[in-house]
Amino acid sequence: MLEQHPRGPDHSRMTQQADANASLAQRDLRHIWHPCTQMHDHQVVPMVPIVRGEGPWLIDANGRRYLDGISSWWTNLFGHANPRIAAALAEQANTLEHVIFAGFTHPVAIELAERLVKITPQGLEKVFFADNGSAAVEVALKMSFHYWLNQRHGEKTRFIALTGSYHGETLGALSVSDVALYRKTYAPLLLTPLLAPSPDAYEGEPGESPEHVATRRLEAMRVLLERHAHETCAVIVEPLVQCAGGMRMYHPSYLSGLRALCNQYNVHLIADEIAVGFGRTGTLFACEQASVAPDFMCLSKGLTGGTLPLSAVLTRQHVYEAFYAEYNAGKAFLHSHSYTGNPLACRAALETLNIFRDEPVLERNRALASHLAARLAPLHDHPNVADVRQHGMIAAVELVADKATRRAFPAEERRGLRVYLHGLEHGALLRPLGNVIYFMPPYVVNEGQIDHLVDVAIDGIARAIT
Ligand code: PMP
Repeated sequence: MLEQHPRGPDHSRMTQQADANASLAQRDLRHIWHPCTQMHDHQVVPMVPIVRGEGPWLIDANGRRYLDGISSWWTNLFGHANPRIAAALAEQANTLEHVIFAGFTHPVAIELAERLVKITPQGLEKVFFADNGSAAVEVALKMSFHYWLNQRHGEKTRFIALTGSYHGETLGALSVSDVALYRKTYAPLLLTPLLAPSPDAYEGEPGESPEHVATRRLEAMRVLLERHAHETCAVIVEPLVQCAGGMRMYHPSYLSGLRALCNQYNVHLIADEIAVGFGRTGTLFACEQASVAPDFMCLSKGLTGGTLPLSAVLTRQHVYEAFYAEYNAGKAFLHSHSYTGNPLACRAALETLNIFRDEPVLERNRALASHLAARLAPLHDHPNVADVRQHGMIAAVELVADKATRRAFPAEERRGLRVYLHGLEHGALLRPLGNVIYFMPPYVVNEGQIDHLVDVAIDGIARAIT
C-alpha cells in the first residue's frame, strides 16, 4: 500500500539516510544554476535529488517516492528507466553512439525518418532532425522564411503567433512566444511577431461554446492575414492546447479553419506538436483531430519517450524542392547542430514508436483519461475553481480568488507553489503553472496512481487557498 500511495515519509528509512538528500542538495547548489528557477527560492524550497526512476515514480536519495504527475516536463511517456528503451539504448551505445550527420548517415535515423513520415499527417515527407524543442522551432521559422526567399518572396519576413503561446526560449522561439514571464525581459532582443487572439475557450464569453470562440477568433486571424499576409512567412500554433501558457485549450475547428486561411492567404502553417504530440491529446498527433496537415510539424519531448533530447521538423516535398539546386545557387538550408540525428536518441525514438506499435496505448489512455475526468469532476463546484478542462492525458484546474468574476489570485502570492510543496510532502510531483494545477502523467500510470495525484492536488488546493 505504501508503494502505491506514499502519503507520508517512511521515517525509519529517513533517519538512516536523512543526510543523503541534504548532502546532494548542498553540493548541487554550490555549482549548478538550474533552469526556470529563481535560485534564491532554494533558501526555502527543497532541492530534490532524484537517484532512480521506476515507471511513473521518481525516487530521491532518502528513498522517498514521488509520482511524476507532469512526466518530467512533459517528456516521459512509458515510465522512467523503461526496460525496452533502456535495452535498445544499451545495444546502440555498444554499436554507434554518434556520427556527424552531414555527408554521413546511419540506419537508425533512416528508419526513424521513414516511420515518422508514415505516422504523421499525409503530405509531410521530409524530416530535418535537431536536438531539442526550441531548436526545432528555430528550424521551422528559418526554413519557412528561407523557402519564401528562395521563391523570390524576400518581403515575407514576419510570423503570426497566438496570444498566450509558448514555443521555447531561444531568441527565435521566444520571439513567437507570448508568455510574459519568459518573454518580457528579453523583448528588446526579439523579433516582433504579429499576435492573433488565441481561440482559448477559457477566454470565451459566459455561456459561449468553445466552437463559437474558435469561429470568432478565426475571424480575427482572417483580418490579420488580410492585412499582413504579403509580409508573413507562417502562422505558428500549438495545436489544441497552449501548454506553458496555462494548459489553455481550444476547439479543433480552429485548426481546420486556420489551415484553410493559410491556404487562402499563401502563408505556411507551423504546428508545434512538441508538447501535444505522441498521444497526449487522445490522438497520436493533435492535428489529426482537425484532419489537418501543417506545412511544418515540430516534434520533440515524447519523441524519445522522454529519455534523450531529440527533435524533428517534418515538412512537404515542395518545401524541400525550393532549396534543391546546384550549390552555387546558394539555396541550401545550412542550419546545423553537432548532435543532429544522434543515433542513441534516434534509437530511443524508434523503441518508443515500437511501443506504440505493440501496445494499445491510445486505447488505454482513453480509459485513464476518463478516470482522471471523473476524479476531477467534483472540482467544478469548488468555490475557488473557475475551470476544469481536459484534452486526453492533459487536465488542468484553474484556481481563482473569485469564482463569479474569475478574478485571479495575484501572481506574487504564488498559490501554485504551495500546491507544489504540498505535493513533495505527499509523494507527488505537481508543478503548477501559476494558478493552474495540471496533470500530465506518463501513460503507464494506473487508476490508483491517478487517484493519488488527484487526492494530493485537492488537499494541496485546500492548503493553497487559505
Ligand atoms: N514548444 C512547446 C509547445 C513546448 O511546450 C516546449 C517546451 N515546453 C518547447 C517548444 C521547447 O522545447 P525545449 O524545452 O525542448 O526547448
